[in-house]
Amino acid sequence: MTMNRRDLLRSSGGVAALAAAGLAAPRGAAAQARRMPAKWDRTADVVVVGAGASGFPAAIVARETGASVLLVEAQPHIGGHGICSGGNVPLGGGTSLQKKYGIEDSSDLVFRDLTDWSVVEPNGFPDYRFNDREIIRAFADNSVATFEFLVAHGVIFVDKAPDTLGGSAVGNSVPREAHAAVMNWATVQTGAPLDPAVQATTSSGNGLLRPLEAAAKKAGVEFLLEHRMVALHREKGGRVLGIEVDNRGRTVQIRARKGVVLATGGSSTNVNFRRMFDPRLTEELCGVAGQPYANQDASGELAAMAAGASLWGGYNQTGEFGSGLTKPGQIGSQYGYVNLKWMPGSPVFDKARASGLTVRDWQDVICVNMLGQRFYDETGRQFTSNNYKSIDPYTYANYRNAMNIKYNPNNWIDAALAGIGDGKNGGGAIWAIFDADAVAREKWDPNPPNVDISQGFFFKADTITDLAKKIVMKYQRVPMPPDALATTVARYNGFVDSGTDEDFGKPKPLYKIASPPFYAAWSMPVIHDTRVGLRINGSGQVIDMEGRVIPGLYSCGETAGGFSQHGLARATCQGYIAAKHVAAEKTSA
Ligand SMILES: Cc1cc2nc3c(=O)[nH]c(=O)nc-3n(C[C@H](O)[C@H](O)[C@H](O)COP(=O)(O)OP(=O)(O)OC[C@H]3O[C@@H](n4cnc5c(N)ncnc54)[C@H](O)[C@@H]3O)c2cc1C
Repeated sequence: MTMNRRDLLRSSGGVAALAAAGLAAPRGAAAQARRMPAKWDRTADVVVVGAGASGFPAAIVARETGASVLLVEAQPHIGGHGICSGGNVPLGGGTSLQKKYGIEDSSDLVFRDLTDWSVVEPNGFPDYRFNDREIIRAFADNSVATFEFLVAHGVIFVDKAPDTLGGSAVGNSVPREAHAAVMNWATVQTGAPLDPAVQATTSSGNGLLRPLEAAAKKAGVEFLLEHRMVALHREKGGRVLGIEVDNRGRTVQIRARKGVVLATGGSSTNVNFRRMFDPRLTEELCGVAGQPYANQDASGELAAMAAGASLWGGYNQTGEFGSGLTKPGQIGSQYGYVNLKWMPGSPVFDKARASGLTVRDWQDVICVNMLGQRFYDETGRQFTSNNYKSIDPYTYANYRNAMNIKYNPNNWIDAALAGIGDGKNGGGAIWAIFDADAVAREKWDPNPPNVDISQGFFFKADTITDLAKKIVMKYQRVPMPPDALATTVARYNGFVDSGTDEDFGKPKPLYKIASPPFYAAWSMPVIHDTRVGLRINGSGQVIDMEGRVIPGLYSCGETAGGFSQHGLARATCQGYIAAKHVAAEKTSA
């Protein structure tokens, strides 16, 4: 398709705004801000960027409304974090599943719950205080429709009463959590289906995403895999007309006649972006949940910012909410998220390199920082977040709710990120140290493919001092002093003798670290969610820095801001909302 005169007008202000914010535009964005493509390679009514939890509902709804739809995905596979997820979907408001099990809910109750300023977590952080009212109203009003849409498009939910297992920040009034059944789909973690005996009762993200993939194909959505959006094309001060995509080094220009929906999944792997909200999140936090299956590299946000978009709800990212930062479940591998263990059959195992050793009992290890010093009670966890009856008794918008929370100061994460006092940001590498007896108790096999020796996420030695000397890898920014590690281990062994951890109060330390060989396994906290993102209105339209709609640009899921809630309900529902509105737009020339 040849460009018309109007198409040739182009914004340049967005990239300047990015530069002022100290941010690099995504590759290609600066050039594209100055020059529209001479011709479009592909055209569709609606272009959805990102084939994950928000992108699929967006693509299907738009297509079923009659629009032609291109679904553009950076990875060679669909699903994003959504397919890696637990498939726990807290869509409430009076869904058919809630009704079946006699749970009374309404959109007004969802709205009230998710805007209640008085609700706090066990660390005192307020879950819902900074939620944007317009965005929550839209979510509340579309939650039931989204749930029924998922069911109508092949998602099978486990047939049991909605509960509170797996989601977070879903409100105090009623249980809302439904669970997508894994069914016969192969999981991305293992590459194989689960035992048929548990397929209808086990929750998994592939039980959500695979049926949606099938429904999208059936509806006639066209998929473009390995197409990574690098820039948006916007008329000067006007409409977004399309996107520029990188397809294995080849540039593809794609025109969107009604609009572009950004469903790119957030910013948690982009170190510079995430550090705008939390400077502690330096590069050694290199095993974000959902990686290496998909990245949340802020490419949607950066492209939209280059086109003039505003961010929204920054506190929601800075605050500490439940699993947003998580203690690892697996150690000795780069990717240690507790509910995502990569196994050799997985399609991304070559990128994950190792499964990690699942820690059953944190009494079996001590954790040390880069200087070989313990920093916390290893059995501690991160905070939990707010759910049905987390506050009991609960009264809407009553300041006394904050008094009915059981406070829990035990946060391993804050101690892990505290650093070594070298004046630098970020906590640096964290290592679990243990011995051969621990290996036997945990029934670990401390060899590849369980541990990642090749990239320096796991070390072994016959003495503690030799172990410290061996710990050389890119995130260990200072050498670990061998004597310091030996002193730490000797002191801890003394605590086992006395039965008291005088330093950090670990409940009755049980096991000495004394039987060679000795091991050091990567044990970093894991970043989970993105809760900051593009400013949108209730229709999912992206808003600029002056509060105006950017015509033809929509956003949903973790790429959108203003909504502090973990996961799939927000993503699926916002995809659904954005599609309803973009499909209703006039087709531009
Ligand atoms: C291990 C794990 C377990 C989870 N469990 C739950 C749970 O049980 N319940 C719950 O509610 N939530 C859960 N979540 C969170 C939930 O999966 C995410 O919030 C949700 O998937 C976000 O949807 P999204 O569409 O915004 O992003 P995603 O689902 O990640 O999809 C984004 C897609 O965009 C693609 N993309 C990114 N950039 C580009 C680009 N420039 N061009 C083209 N494509 C691009 C990505 O590759 C990806 O496929 C879990 C997450 C993880 C990682």
